[in-house]
Amino acid sequence: MLKHLGTVFIVGAGPGNPDLITVRGLTCLREADVVLHDRLIDLHLLEEAKPAAEIISVGKELGEEDLQQEYIHWLMIQKAREGKDVCRLKGGDPFVFGRGGEEARVLSESGIPFEIVPGVTSATAVPAFAGIPVTHRHYAHSFMVITGSGSHDLGSAEWRAASALVQAGGTVVVLMGLSRVRVIAETLIARNCRATTPVAVISRGTYLIQDCRIGTLEDIGTRIDGVKSPAVIVIGEVVALRNGSGGRSAIEGFDLAIGNRFFGQTK
Ligand code: SAH
Repeated sequence: MLKHLGTVFIVGAGPGNPDLITVRGLTCLREADVVLHDRLIDLHLLEEAKPAAEIISVGKELGEEDLQQEYIHWLMIQKAREGKDVCRLKGGDPFVFGRGGEEARVLSESGIPFEIVPGVTSATAVPAFAGIPVTHRHYAHSFMVITGSGSHDLGSAEWRAASALVQAGGTVVVLMGLSRVRVIAETLIARNCRATTPVAVISRGTYLIQDCRIGTLEDIGTRIDGVKSPAVIVIGEVVALRNGSGGRSAIEGFDLAIGNRFFGQTK
């Protein structure tokens, strides 16, 4: 007899603060028999799973990403074939640097029913929570999200396009770039971006403990001591719009985060 297949829900958990998961995402999490989650998600979210749910952490260690990814594929398929509904919980949006596209493809090829539940991406939510709009009618009419990871060469065509966008007045949001802030800033200046272009480095965004450092392409490298991962880098004039007017100091940025208390919790 053919066994009933479970469904895999590839769910975006949102950018950090657990209140920022979507309603659909939360429903999937609450109803799942198995939860496979990344390291980036807020562990408080797991309290929402059924008491009997099997919770498996599949966070990746550096250098073992591909091996672990294969294992995740195998696990999702295996659990669904056992008839279990699986919530594959990923930080931010599953299709923004989340390898969600690969997972969806493998499921499709294996004949496993699945659903994509989009999430609030850190690329826009982390700047927003820090008071930085990624576009603005008067200052920036486009934004680009690019990886700053060491595995992506700053000499690539896409990084050249990012440099051109900064030069043209658009906004560039860099994910996974904390360890390369200095070299990224130097590269942009070498490509004729104004040294005074405002830059923000926002760590642990969407939490009240977020750490927002403000500088320019020229000096941001000296302003990021002690900043912890994960962090988003925002480059462009919109950074100067924090709190409505001109630039503010890092410590005032922290006040701004407290002012932004729409989550009603202090986590
Ligand atoms: N799919 C995720 C991104 C995964 S890549 C999304 O849509 O948000 C991981 C990168 O996301 C981190 O290196 C960092 O650049 C960024 N990031 C995720 N959560 C963050 C947070 N709470 N604060 C700052 N940066 C964050």
